[in-house]
Amino acid sequence: MPEVHPNPHGEFKSGEHSAIPHPPPEDDPGQHTELQKPWPDTGWRGEPNIPSQKGGDYEPDFMNKPPYFWKPEGDKFEARYTSQCWCGNVVFEFHGNPLDAKHCHCRQCQSLHGAPFQWAVIFPKTSVRLVKNEKDSLHFFSTELRQSRHYVPCKVSCDQCRSPLFDEGRNTVLAYPGSFKFKDRKVPLDFQPSAHIFYSERVMEIPDGM
Ligand SMILES: [Zn+2]
Ligand SMILES: [Zn+2]
Repeated sequence: MPEVHPNPHGEFKSGEHSAIPHPPPEDDPGQHTELQKPWPDTGWRGEPNIPSQKGGDYEPDFMNKPPYFWKPEGDKFEARYTSQCWCGNVVFEFHGNPLDAKHCHCRQCQSLHGAPFQWAVIFPKTSVRLVKNEKDSLHFFSTELRQSRHYVPCKVSCDQCRSPLFDEGRNTVLAYPGSFKFKDRKVPLDFQPSAHIFYSERVMEIPDGM
């Protein structure tokens, strides 16, 4: 068996950084010192200020608000990044850089992503907008209810190709950089994880005899 290195990134942080809430986000920035970057004003003036921040399904018109609809006052939203599902039916745009980035090694992320870990970057909800939803392809899944419906926090994917796109939390979106289109395929520094969480659940080598 090859030797397993505990942290190939050499930057594992414990303590505060390991406390990024999960699954997804009890994401009040006031409670989390790692989200120190200022939240940009992208022009959204709707009510409530941050859509669906109470969680659950209290906001039936969520499709008329960020991150699913955009009608800002002024023109402050500058699309810096674009993400899209594999088949291209669903496309989102993102303003500015992520507030933080993480790798999550929990069993739930492994299972839902079909991958050894989840890589996610955090944006304020009001910095995200849906620009394409062909054939009504948005799909929502609540791990709490174990049902396919918009119940915040929930997981957002494409109903056609099933690509995971992001987790919608109460205040932020945890987007998956795997769906982003980067210039020259170079991943920006702001997408580097500052933390590995649920590190004890990471994929391990298979013991002898299995
Ligand atoms: Zn798709
Ligand atoms: Zn996880």
